[in-house]
Amino acid sequence: VFNFAAGPATLPEPVLLKAQAELYNYRGSGMSIMEMSHRGKEFDSVIKKAESDLRLLLSIPDDFAVLFLQGGATTQFAAVPLNLCSSTSDPADYLVTGSWGDKAFKEAQKFCKPNLIWSGKSEKYTKIPSFDEIPQNPDAKYIHICANETIHGVEFKDYPTPANKNSILVADMSSNFCSKPVDVSKFGVIYAGAQKNVGPSGVTIVIVRRDLIGSAQEITPVMLDYKTHADSASLYNTPPCFAIYMCGLVFEHLLEQGGLVEIEKKNAKKAGILYDTIDGSGGFYVCPVEKSVRSLMNIPFTLQKSELEKKFIEEASKEGMVQLKGHRSVGGMRASIYNAMPLAGVEKLVAFMKDFQARHP
Ligand code: PLP
Repeated sequence: VFNFAAGPATLPEPVLLKAQAELYNYRGSGMSIMEMSHRGKEFDSVIKKAESDLRLLLSIPDDFAVLFLQGGATTQFAAVPLNLCSSTSDPADYLVTGSWGDKAFKEAQKFCKPNLIWSGKSEKYTKIPSFDEIPQNPDAKYIHICANETIHGVEFKDYPTPANKNSILVADMSSNFCSKPVDVSKFGVIYAGAQKNVGPSGVTIVIVRRDLIGSAQEITPVMLDYKTHADSASLYNTPPCFAIYMCGLVFEHLLEQGGLVEIEKKNAKKAGILYDTIDGSGGFYVCPVEKSVRSLMNIPFTLQKSELEKKFIEEASKEGMVQLKGHRSVGGMRASIYNAMPLAGVEKLVAFMKDFQARHP
């Protein structure tokens, strides 16, 4: 089966097979990694290796901490203003290009004074504006973006520079994390739920510049304070050990494939053939997203004859291409083609799309 789900998503086959082989007896220890103390030597080497491999993959500078947390990216919608604002009256800028950015903006209203500096809502989230058109607030503590909108398929290809030199760029990278190289030094905080490109659900990765740690608002719960986790190397309480172990296997696998430069080439090729099929269909298939900001990860499309969409999804599923239904808020179809989706899966999908079109003139 080729799984086009937006998340939890497909994992690389070699990673699943390795985890299967080690599941019952982890490297001769007689125990599963799930049964071991998170303070024991085996798990210590798992988490340290996962962190160092992620640092290699993304060339993360030393002045950034890497945290393995819980609560999903959704928890970071609150943690970001709690950690970066000194009180609930501090301003922050939100550039909203889809539903996830909008959720982050709404959650921030409880913990700071977020300004909506731009929203693509009236254009059904199909665009990203040119950055010089956006008036940033000179006092903003940070500017928040969602680097890839999973539902709407809108992806930043470059990033805004905060207008004020003390302001910092914060990005939710949940759905394009480790899909391409990123210059981490441009950001103050990057966060991502793992369950799309790098592991199972249950672990959220936060990459945060160290000088931003330690000034959380007084009301910040201990579990949401980046200092808690930075000071204890992500072992303040029981971490999601198995999920971290799985991420570590994925990071090794990405490095073995040549790192993120190579991964991006593969992702661009996969997305390219899918967009070409949509655009070359003479309007039979439609992708509403402006070409320059189309996501390499989540590709939403509709059928001009919308009455055929249910049939399209059912027939694709019978042929082993599952989870192609679009998000309930936008309808149509969505093909999520994260790192672990092989080229063969996308080739099979485009062959099916062409055949479906030929059968419905
Ligand atoms: N941000 C983005 C871009 C997402 O795609 C998702 C989930 O799909 C979330 C945030 C929420 O993540 P979580 O379910 O890990 O809280």
